[in-house]
This record gives sequence, structure tokens and C-alpha cells, in this order.
Amino acid sequence: LIPTLDEARLALLNIADRATGLVTPSLRLGVTGLSRAGKTVFITALVHNLIKGGRLPLFEAAASGRIARAYLEPQPDDAVPRFDYEAHVRKLVEERLWPSSTRRVSELRVTLEFESATFLNRTLGRGRIHLDIVDYPGEWLLDLPLLAKDYATWSAETLARAREPARAALAASWLATLAGLDPTGPEDEGLARDLAEAFTGYLRAARADEHALSTLPPGRFLMPGDLEGSPALTFAPLDLAPGTVTVPKSLRAMMERRFEAYKDVVVRPFFRDHFARLDRQIVLVDALQALNAGPRAVADLELALTEILQCFRPGRLSWLGSILSRRIDRIVFAATKADHLHRDSHDRLEAILRRLVGRAIERASFAGAEVDVIAMAAVRATREASVSDRGETLPAILGVPLPGERLGGEAFDGEAEIAIFPGDLPDDPESVFERPDSISEALESESELQQAPHSGSQTDPGLGLEFVRFRPPRLERTAEGLTLSLPHIRLDRALQFLIGDRLT
Ligand code: GDP
Repeated sequence: LIPTLDEARLALLNIADRATGLVTPSLRLGVTGLSRAGKTVFITALVHNLIKGGRLPLFEAAASGRIARAYLEPQPDDAVPRFDYEAHVRKLVEERLWPSSTRRVSELRVTLEFESATFLNRTLGRGRIHLDIVDYPGEWLLDLPLLAKDYATWSAETLARAREPARAALAASWLATLAGLDPTGPEDEGLARDLAEAFTGYLRAARADEHALSTLPPGRFLMPGDLEGSPALTFAPLDLAPGTVTVPKSLRAMMERRFEAYKDVVVRPFFRDHFARLDRQIVLVDALQALNAGPRAVADLELALTEILQCFRPGRLSWLGSILSRRIDRIVFAATKADHLHRDSHDRLEAILRRLVGRAIERASFAGAEVDVIAMAAVRATREASVSDRGETLPAILGVPLPGERLGGEAFDGEAEIAIFPGDLPDDPESVFERPDSISEALESESELQQAPHSGSQTDPGLGLEFVRFRPPRLERTAEGLTLSLPHIRLDRALQFLIGDRLT
């Protein structure tokens, strides 16, 4: 068999990875998730905790004091932007604001020096491993299914989906632009741009908070990286009558050409150069946002998880299957921002995500890598308290709202902490699926409890479960005046599963 160019190139990259690994082994950890899932915050907090020797009781190597040193080193790939760790830490720790989010792929190398846990290895001297963290938008992963589709199939599927009840209203203005348009008409740059813009507007609206729909290829339309405005991104689906053929130099021919270019110059290189070289993967999921938006968003999230899992175990016949040497052997799905909930609900959040991932595993007939599920907060911005309210003691979370945050018509500014009662997640994870409206109803009734105690005012009962965005925490100092690293929830459990076995 003659290897394709992609196979040859990946083989070279693999050899290079292994060759550098002979001196000091390296582990490539992929960090992904849809926009605003928490990738930047996660990587920053993880590295900060490693370098500063943070409190990581569930990360065995750190808890037993075996990590001698952790430090940043130049990354192995010269052509990939570096993850801007220093700027993100400054923002989080000094300004106590959230850093700017992931918009493209980036990389960061942390080197760990550790004492081995076994006597034999200890006699060989101190162990060293490079952890190469690769941050990339989850939107780009959802592009993989496009490789198996031609333009006509993709157009038909995208239009059918846009006409579903969950999306029809959001797609109305784009669909109106399409109506009456003749795909056999002459190619036209201005028209192509208008259509691409209207289509992108629909994709963006579907992603917005109140809808939180997840499955929206092509990924670069929402996360263009450095391709913004290029012809490979200036296309859109057309309403094609079944069985019709492409007329040369027509609008359809132009769109078809660009769709193919998108696959060739955008999708394939990403999977070959970045994705196929990962050893471990964490997928961050803003499950709370989906739960809060309602059952349709939950169903949509499940579909997105299914498609993501398919990327990790593509069929042997697919293009990716032939170049993916099955390197990824551990995957974590993490529900982020668990600090928005009281501790009592963390296990419930985990149970809901476990059920979602379980269903996705079944649907994708996924097997191969070990999968773990965690409810986590990479940065814990809240603390817990009990607040008495008319003789009743209620579990609450306390935090300082971001400047300008609003709750019940009141805008916050300043350093005062407020208490909110975030509401409970359902005890039975199945209820999220079985009775489609139960969770939004449950959350709505809980939200009536939300109030800002310092004002004593009751909030608008129609609010839904509106989370307050809190400021990142002030770092605690020890008696000796040392500042501690960023506080978190279960970040150490994620670390243990992702890299613990390589530090023995
Ligand atoms: P990205 O697009 O995946 O890189 O997402 P970010 O890491 O930029 O996170 C998006 C936003 O989610 C941040 O600006 C924060 O407001 C919020 N966020 C992310 N992680 C946490 C967390 O651990 N705790 C809290 N309270 N908020 C978080």
C-alpha cells in the first residue's frame, strides 16, 4: 500500500515526537471544549497549581511530595502559537478578571521532575517528563464528519436541521435570504459573502446563551482562527433540488469548490498536525449552561458528545482512522464551573454528565480509551455558607460578582460578597432525559429563592436559573506571607487520571 501524503507527514511527526521522547518522555495532552467551556481557565489553573505546588490531595505524585520541580520550557512545535500563560495568570491573579478565551490552537510545555514511587526506578535517578498541553476549539473537532460528506449532502442536512423547531426561528433570516435563490445562477462573490454572513449569523444565534445548541459545523465559521475572511470560509449551504447536477461557473459550483477547499486546507491539516498526535484528552463541557437552557440544549449536547467521541475512534475505513495510530488512551469529560453549585450538587452534576457521556458512548459504539467523568471547577470563585432565611437554614454560595453583573435588576459593583441559592440539580440524572421539561421547571422554581441578602430584595421569579458570574478569588496567604495557588474543585482528580500513571 502506498501511504498518502497525510499518512507520510504524520509518520514523520510521530517519529519526531518519539525521537525527542527518547531523552525525556513527553505526553501530549489535548484540552478542548466548545467556546467558553473553560479551556483557558483550566490550562492556566492546572499549570499554576503544578508550578506553585498547589493543594492537590487527589494527585498522588504531588500529595506524596514526589514532585521535585515543575517549570515551563520552550514547546517542541515552533509553528504553533504559544499558550499565553503569563498574561492569563496576571489577569486572573492580579486583576482578578477572567482571561481572554481560546480562539485558535496553542501549545505550552511544562516539565515535571519527580522522585519515582518504586524503589527500583528511584535508584535510576530522578524521573522527568514533558507535559505538552495543546489547547484547541471544540468547534474544530465537530468538523470531522464533514470529511465524509459532499456539498449536496451537507447542504441538505444543514437545511433540514435549520428547519427543525429548535432552530427554525433562529434560522429564519438566513432561510429568507436563501428563498428564491437560483443555485444555477452565475457565481458571484458578493452574493457568496452575503450568504456566508447570514448563515454564520444563524450559527451564532444558535450558540448564544439562551439556546446553547452545540452541534454546528463548519467550526471555523464560529472560530475562524487566522482564516477570517478567506475564500475557504466564504460559502454556505444552498437549497438544491434532489438529483440536479452542478452547472459549471454557477453559484453552486463556486460553493462546492470552497466547501472542498475548506476540507482540504482547514479540516484535514488540523486533524493530521494536531489531533492525531495527542496521547490524552480532556473535553470540557459547560453542562450547566445546557441544563439551564432546557432539554433541547441537553439533547443537542448529547449529540455533540457523540460526534466528539466518534473522532476518538473513527472507523478503520475513514480517512482519520487510517492516520490515527490510536494514541489517545485516556479521555476525561469534565463539567466545568461546578463552583456555581453548592457541594451537595457536585455529585449530581457528575451523575448527569456521566449519563450523557454514557448515552453518547452507546450511540457512537465507542470503545478503546479509558473514559472518566468529573464535575470540576478549575478556579473556585465561590465559598459555601449556610444562610438563614425566615427561620430556615439554606445552603448558599458566596462570591463577589464581576463588575456590572446583574441579578434581579440590580447591577453589582465593588468588592461586597453576595450569597445566592443556586438551586439543586435533580437527584435522578435520568429525569433530565425522561421528562423533558422537568429540569427547567425545577430550576425555575428554585430560582425564586435567589436573592442578594445584603439588599434583602426578592428577585424576579421569571429569571430562570441565572448564574451570577463571579470574580476570580483573592489568593490566600500563609502565615509566612506566601501566596497560595489558585483554589479549585476536583482539578487534582482530573490530573491524576490524565497524567498520574506516568509519574510512577
Ligand atoms: P474557553 O473559551 O473554553 O477558553 O473558555 P474560558 O476558559 O475563557 O472560560 C469562559 C468563561 O467561563 C470565563 O471567562 C469565566 O467567566 C467562566 N469560567 C471558566 N472556568 C471557570 C471556573 O472554573 N469557575 C468559574 N466560576 N467560572 C469559570
